[in-house]
Amino acid sequence: MVDTPGLAAEWLNCLQDSGYKLTRTRRVLVELLASSTRAYGPIELYDAARERCPGLGLVTVYRTLEKLEELSLVQRLHQPDGCHRYLRATQGHQHVMVCSGCGEVEVFSGDNLEPLFHRLADQTGYSIEQHWLQLFGLCPACQAAERQAEA
Ligand SMILES: [Zn+2]
Ligand SMILES: [Zn+2]
Repeated sequence: MVDTPGLAAEWLNCLQDSGYKLTRTRRVLVELLASSTRAYGPIELYDAARERCPGLGLVTVYRTLEKLEELSLVQRLHQPDGCHRYLRATQGHQHVMVCSGCGEVEVFSGDNLEPLFHRLADQTGYSIEQHWLQLFGLCPACQAAERQAEA
């Protein structure tokens, strides 16, 4: 379990240590990202934060995300459509499953990937050192919403 208020405070300390002023806007962005298991696209984060910061600019959102990524507090997820979503950084080596509907994320560890890697190594002659696994799909809630829309 992640201690959310503690995590947000930690991030704010990190930002401050690296010379960032802790404006109200940055606090709101940090709280949203630190408290969520979902991955936000920049526009989604902007929309979510604007409820609390009406004067928020999109550029501030991009800059804050960039800074948080630089500090390894959030990780950037690449999506099939070429857009990015940002997720609070996971602990250690994890595999990530992202809902393409709502951005909800499941992290999972545990590989049964070794046989695949061995086969690929044999086929290509590569010595495989690391992997980064990310899956895309629809979460149960989004599947249910889709079924309801079809009914
Ligand atoms: Zn979903
Ligand atoms: Zn793995």
